[in-house]
Amino acid sequence: MVEIRRPLGHGPLGPAPLCTACGTPLGRLDAAVGDHCRTLACRAAMAVRRDRAAKIARDERDAASARAVFAGRPGIEATLHLPAFDRPLLPHDPARAATFRATLTAAMAEAVALATEAGPEPEASAPGSGRPELEQGCALCGGSCCRFGGDHAFLAAPHLARRLGPDPATAAGPTIEAYMARLPALSYAESCLFHGPAGCALDRHERSDICNAYRCAGLGRLADLLDRGRRVGASAVAEGVATRSAVIAPAHLSAAPPPV
Ligand code: SF4
Ligand code: SF4
Repeated sequence: MVEIRRPLGHGPLGPAPLCTACGTPLGRLDAAVGDHCRTLACRAAMAVRRDRAAKIARDERDAASARAVFAGRPGIEATLHLPAFDRPLLPHDPARAATFRATLTAAMAEAVALATEAGPEPEASAPGSGRPELEQGCALCGGSCCRFGGDHAFLAAPHLARRLGPDPATAAGPTIEAYMARLPALSYAESCLFHGPAGCALDRHERSDICNAYRCAGLGRLADLLDRGRRVGASAVAEGVATRSAVIAPAHLSAAPPPV
């Protein structure tokens, strides 16, 4: 339903309003039904603005839910919200496993070529690893970003090449089988096939560089607050509802607030 904002053809209308995207004067029809002109560029720009505004509104709603959980709790120096993953567990799916094997085999062929040409590279640093407070945040969330791992787990040639050692061609087959053996008996619907009830079924060194390095905006905020020595009340929030909450403190502090 189109909302008519001002009448058409009823007396003087004053200066034509301007398109809020490009600033050109609006035709009467455009001005009657909206605040932007009908060019593709302006419609696209307005769609981006609407999406951004909706995202900000959702963010504010979720932040308010996290604040409400910790309201009045002494010793909490900041609150934040993280995403909340909540999908059912499904049994191992042979079709997904077959897709993964095919993808991994192709990536491994590239990895063998890479490792043979360039020699073994040093292990990349993994910013997300080795910081238990951040892993607490991801555990609270439940692995929302793992949804994007699909049937490939982001395992690409450069990471695999580093795992192949001095004889890449010989190591390739056993490395593929080692990954296949790590597939969990249960994994979450609509998520990475390694995303099981205990979190990621792969050890840190087996995960892709993307998995080890990625931080969503919420986890980035958590890292920042912990770096500043704050004791953080964190909540995993879905659709404005805080589903899991915990106090996360920098490693040198206790999560329990000091006695008042
Ligand atoms: S990085 Fe963000 S989305 Fe991914 S598991 Fe951690 S908290 Fe969740
Ligand atoms: S491999 Fe592990 S960390 Fe990476 S997307 Fe899959 S479940 Fe998540």
